[in-house]
Amino acid sequence: MKFTPDLILDSFDALTVDLLKEKGIRYLILDVDNTLIPYEEDVPRPAVLAWLEELKAADIAVSFVTNNHRPRLLKFNEALKYPAFANSCKPFRRNMKKAMRAMGADREHTANMGDQIFTDTLAGRFLGIYTVLVPPIKDKRDPFTRFKRLLERPIKRAYYKKKEKKNNEK
Ligand SMILES: [Mg+2]
Repeated sequence: MKFTPDLILDSFDALTVDLLKEKGIRYLILDVDNTLIPYEEDVPRPAVLAWLEELKAADIAVSFVTNNHRPRLLKFNEALKYPAFANSCKPFRRNMKKAMRAMGADREHTANMGDQIFTDTLAGRFLGIYTVLVPPIKDKRDPFTRFKRLLERPIKRAYYKKKEKKNNEK
């Protein structure tokens, strides 16, 4: 299914250097809000910084692509200075493509990670890169978000079903 992510993890740092190497990923496009930081915060926590350092040490290029506005992204990226793109309107691919270009990335070795199927995962699928989904750090409780999560449910179920089938075949 077009919407199904390639991989679902429990949190951003479950995407380890070892796992990335196993999948042949050298370029990473990261969502910011609710993937790396909750909406209430604007700078990366030490755990995020430590994880990014590990990626850097392993020569894995990183970029940020967010649907949120530029001032928030600039603040988040202030000390990091990675290629970063705001107002991205994911699932549109435009800024994801820009991020790939900025990293010198090719599709085969690029992954994206985000917390939303209908923006992050779909953009990655449209682009033909490896897609990683994580649960939102702290989900909003407004009716629109709850409705979105409801729509995501069967897609997540399809992912786990497929995974189970794969495991049984091993
Ligand atoms: Mg997000």
